[in-house]
Amino acid sequence: MLDLHNRSITYLLGVGPKKAEILRQEAGISSYEDLLFYFPYKYVDRSRFYKIVEIRGNMPYIQLKGRILSFETVGEGRTRRLIARFTDGTGTMDLVWFKGIAYIKDKYQIGKEYIIFGKPTEFGNFYNIAHPDIDPVENADQVAGGLTPFYNTTEKMKKSFLNSKAIQNLQYTLLSSLNWQVPETLSPDILARTRMVSLTEAIRNIHFPESAEKLKQAQVRLKFDELFYIQLNILRTATTRKLKLKGIVFPQVGDYFNEFYKKYLPFELTNAQKRVVREIRVDMGSGRQMNRLLQGDVGSGKTLVGLLAMLLAVDNHCQACMMAPTEILANQHYATIMDFLKDMDIKVALLTGSTKKKDRNQILPQIASGEIRIVIGTHALIEESVVFSSLGLAIIDEQHRFGVEQRSRLWTKNKWIPHVLVMTATPIPRTLAMTLYGDLDVSVIDELPPGRKPIQTLHRYDTKKAQLYDFLRKEIELGRQVYVVYPLIEGSEKLDYKNLEDGFETFKEVFPEYTVCMVHGKMKAADKESEMQKFISGKAQILMATTVIEVGVNVPNASVMVIESAERFGLSQLHQLRGRVGRGAKQSYCILVSSYKLSNETRKRLEIMVNSNNGFEIAEADLKLRGHGDLEGTQQSGIGIDLKIANLGTDGQILQFARDIAMQILDEDPELLSERYRILNERLRMLFTRKVNWGLIS
Ligand code: ADP
Ligand code: MG
Repeated sequence: MLDLHNRSITYLLGVGPKKAEILRQEAGISSYEDLLFYFPYKYVDRSRFYKIVEIRGNMPYIQLKGRILSFETVGEGRTRRLIARFTDGTGTMDLVWFKGIAYIKDKYQIGKEYIIFGKPTEFGNFYNIAHPDIDPVENADQVAGGLTPFYNTTEKMKKSFLNSKAIQNLQYTLLSSLNWQVPETLSPDILARTRMVSLTEAIRNIHFPESAEKLKQAQVRLKFDELFYIQLNILRTATTRKLKLKGIVFPQVGDYFNEFYKKYLPFELTNAQKRVVREIRVDMGSGRQMNRLLQGDVGSGKTLVGLLAMLLAVDNHCQACMMAPTEILANQHYATIMDFLKDMDIKVALLTGSTKKKDRNQILPQIASGEIRIVIGTHALIEESVVFSSLGLAIIDEQHRFGVEQRSRLWTKNKWIPHVLVMTATPIPRTLAMTLYGDLDVSVIDELPPGRKPIQTLHRYDTKKAQLYDFLRKEIELGRQVYVVYPLIEGSEKLDYKNLEDGFETFKEVFPEYTVCMVHGKMKAADKESEMQKFISGKAQILMATTVIEVGVNVPNASVMVIESAERFGLSQLHQLRGRVGRGAKQSYCILVSSYKLSNETRKRLEIMVNSNNGFEIAEADLKLRGHGDLEGTQQSGIGIDLKIANLGTDGQILQFARDIAMQILDEDPELLSERYRILNERLRMLFTRKVNWGLIS
């Protein structure tokens, strides 16, 4: 059979070099297979004709049958358009074209009966359809009846006559040339086990649905296919690695751990913390390398868990390091850990970009000799010059800030591969974790330390600033501090910085009796640090900032978080920001300030924030609302997950099913070398060889 994967789209009838180039650039279609796997994003029911009198405002795509009464070209330059008056006997409406005017006028005739398809727009009391699909009634049986697919197309594609309809025609041409047969991607026994339809039937029905039911089966099969291969790939890599990579064994819980735990731990661990510490202990004692993702809401006590894990490493004659994404955070971790360990005999060092040369010259040899047991730092930890004598555990805080490569660099220069613990407060929904980090083991701290008052979240419109200022003044009078955060969105930085600076001026005027400070990403590191310090020390009552304070900063006395233009933030980010307050025993508040005009989706998002304090719930909701593509964490993770049909927000069940089947198969045949799974092996190679080397990721 034809190798669709390697068959260039230029071989297809009707695709010349120019169209091929546009398909490649705009839609990522270069091969026959790419085209077949370019799926419609929606279907519209074309099983019935509407009448013009039935048209109401805000209708979806509809189908009409009637005649063109006249053509008229109006407007000049960019507003030049062709208008066709159209009637079906029950009323009249307009068909409008902004492009291809000469062609359209030539192609369609006055008085002839046509089938029209498009989305009506109301204009005055009159309706029009812009750029409708038009077919002569004689061709009615060629016009897809029933469910009509819609394909994503860009402006550039449309300009080259590659609209949705044209894509559908290409699908038709291609499938016809293949006698409507597509090579299967799953082995017969998997098809039998899962009771899925064949790929041929799925591809046929995804582009030309015979019925709603057949379409559904096709979607399930194709989603399964997509998720199954991702899982099979991750799990096979993980299995192979587990077989190959021996971890350093930490057999004992020794004096450091025990002394700290019994004598110096200032409070009881939460049950969730205890459970996670146990999981880590088992992992590091197992003889295989630990690769664990620790998820826990802001303030759930991850740092302490990290510290306990580091003490275990030290007990087993190894060193440990903790890497944070910013200097402020590294400093804070260092201070916290020094405080916890102040009465213990254990050497800890801090290493960041601003560590003085003199200090570096002292620290580096002590890391190399093993005298320093625990190192806290930033990216500075992975520089060439830093060589450990026996690094046994690397902890990475707020992992999504680190690229894949940085993570792997942490140990490539060491004698052995240390255990790795990645900590994040950006909870990743289970389906996403399985897809992104399917080869990591996941621990969750799903419980906050006792005695915390839940943060109260309020949504306010920016038309009511006076009330907001009154509220802030009252809180400050009680001795509390306030964060005010402005969005910083790529592409509109200029305006965003201006908003922040304007806000800063306003706050200084409104609160002349207090000190207001400001931090943003364009400031010099030293200035940033000193402004930040004003707030940490309590000298300033109000800190105004862009999202640089997003991660980790701990000022327990700050009890109010005001988020300006909250509608412009993602849910996870709002939740992160909110986590900056609520760290002390006092009641804390998060105030989401937005404009009055909001889309339904945005309103829903802010509502979720007001109603939930649970990071996992919020992440799940975010995934459902926005899809995985926009989720924070996916882009930064360095692993693009480009799903064509599956949706991690809604296809959790299919994902779990695909993962189970993949596991069963790998249990039978870990390296997929048997004849019966050869097809899987080949497909895996085809799908993943050009992409990320998954083996290096964690
Ligand atoms: P995270 O890194 O998960 O956001 P931290 O480790 O910074 O959270 O912990 C937040 C605060 O809670 C710290 O002040 C920490 O000392 C405190 N804390 C951690 N665990 C407990 C516990 N079991 N009981 C009481 N307080 C705790
Ligand atoms: Mg933390």
